[in-house]
Amino acid sequence: MSTLTPICVKCRLEMRCVKNNRLVADPEADGFPSTYWLGDEYECPDCGCRIVTGFGLAMSGPKVQPEEAALMFDYERKKEKAEA
Ligand SMILES: [Zn+2]
Repeated sequence: MSTLTPICVKCRLEMRCVKNNRLVADPEADGFPSTYWLGDEYECPDCGCRIVTGFGLAMSGPKVQPEEAALMFDYERKKEKAEA
């Protein structure tokens, strides 16, 4: 098991990396400008649950014009209870 590889809690399996440099858009909120992040997208081989982790590079400012569709971070839903 690698220290960098996420594991699925439900399935107890290592997740596999399905996409490096997954673009995530962090929308403008509370005076902070919209920001784009690059992370790694992982998928659980059993249940298909997907996550993005390992964010490193942030890109912000009006000049950022991503060439691909970004995963939009959703501030509206972040207060939902986590599943037990
Ligand atoms: Zn799973």
